Amino acid sequence: MGRRWGLLVGVLGAVWLLGSGQGGRQPAETAAQRCFCQVSGYLDDCTCDVETVDRFNNYRLFPRLQNLLESDYFRYYKVNLKRPCPFWNDISQCGRRDCAVKPCQSDEVPDGIKSVSYKYSEEANSLIEECEQAERLGAVDESLSEETQKAVLQWTKHDDSSDNFCEVDDIQSPDAEYVDLLLNPERYTGYKGPDAWKIWNVIYEENCFKPQTIKRPLNPLASGQGKSEENTFYSWLEGLCVEKRAFYRLISGLHASINVHLSARYLLQDTWLEKKWGHNVTEFQQRFDGILTKGEGPRRLKNLYFLYLIELRALSKVVPFFERPDFQLFTGNKIQDAENKMLLLEILHEIKSFPLHFDENSFFAGDKKEANKLKEDFRLHFRNISRIMDCVGCLKCRLWGKLQTQGLGTALKILFSEKLIANMPESGPSYEFHLTRQEIVSLFNAFGRISTSVKELENFRKLLQNIH
Ligand code: FAD
Repeated sequence: MGRRWGLLVGVLGAVWLLGSGQGGRQPAETAAQRCFCQVSGYLDDCTCDVETVDRFNNYRLFPRLQNLLESDYFRYYKVNLKRPCPFWNDISQCGRRDCAVKPCQSDEVPDGIKSVSYKYSEEANSLIEECEQAERLGAVDESLSEETQKAVLQWTKHDDSSDNFCEVDDIQSPDAEYVDLLLNPERYTGYKGPDAWKIWNVIYEENCFKPQTIKRPLNPLASGQGKSEENTFYSWLEGLCVEKRAFYRLISGLHASINVHLSARYLLQDTWLEKKWGHNVTEFQQRFDGILTKGEGPRRLKNLYFLYLIELRALSKVVPFFERPDFQLFTGNKIQDAENKMLLLEILHEIKSFPLHFDENSFFAGDKKEANKLKEDFRLHFRNISRIMDCVGCLKCRLWGKLQTQGLGTALKILFSEKLIANMPESGPSYEFHLTRQEIVSLFNAFGRISTSVKELENFRKLLQNIH
């Protein structure tokens, strides 16, 4: 109620401001302009602009990507939602109906996918056994050369290697279960207030390189914020090295994307007969309107585009891995698996053709020792964020939070993996670099979420066009 009232006052205030003095006789700004006026043109720290991303994503990539994500390989994700929160004890599960996650029955998941994890859980006590297990990870064919078998062996040992940006679930744990992502979509759950703020707060305050003395604008857990604090925050951010600034922008982009989804798939009607989900423009405005959020909203949307470009670049870089002739999207259905691989490569080649890719070479450049230290800090901070996801009190939010952080972590692993840098793309696909099925599923689904957000922004732009 308080927020609705605040929104009304804000909108009336904006209309008044524009109607008097400043706006003269010109028609008042539309809600679409207030959310999107700064979300155009070039993106900071990139050579790309918003309009190019919109055109590329909404018309060329989005429909095909959605198709791919509906396939069996990508819709089943194994996750442990019972892991205890490593940072505090008092997490209460919110108990809301819309936060529930329905795991798969064992006969729902194709055997080809399940057998991977079943085999993988066995104690490996000989070289051949280990090789067999890894082969069934779905990445390679069964007729491998000796050299490849050795590489495959290494992959199993590299699951938690120094390349990883995420703390991943032990998918062998009896608590890990397959979830059908299509049946448990990311949408409005009603998880909000101090519990949700606490998670975001810990992420920004303790894990984004921010000193405590610098206040985050509009932080609901801090009192008495003023204009000077916003200024201090942004001059602090601008003064940071490009990597740390990028880190904040990635997290803010992920946060914005989650909030776009819950506004786009909001619970509009809840009767005993049916539930209706759809766009809630008021919810969207509260989070992204330039005036209601004192300029923060459009910045958040720009960060979402930044995240999009980072993940897009990672996908373009890892194409040779997926092009290996022996790589399969293995579910056990030969025809379907081959068709899916074709679609996957089509999408990846489309991504490769994007003309304004982010240039990650400016990251972790300069003095080798300092760059390595920075990279390690970056990795450890991100790993911590992936652990915080086990503290999210709403299981549906936790599921998608874990999947999206693992997906982003995989993108960062691709961008900054020494093995990939050393071996691809000039010298062709390298067998030293490896992604597990979990990493592949999370990478593409996470990108699918950001791609959906960008598409949803187009929908909101239209819906807000005639609102003043
Ligand atoms: P919040 O979104 O909670 O933000 C807290 C504060 O952070 C804001 O007041 C503002 O100061 C700042 N802030 C907001 N957005 C940004 C940004 N993009 N960049 C920088 N700072 C920002 N809810 C659902 O309905 N469905 C979900 O699937 C879902 N998934 C979630 C996953 C996670 C991991 C978490 C932590 C929360 C999730 N939520 C989900 C809750 C949702 O994100 C919000 O926390 C909730 O809707 C309350 O929103 P709010 O407007 O109070 O501000």
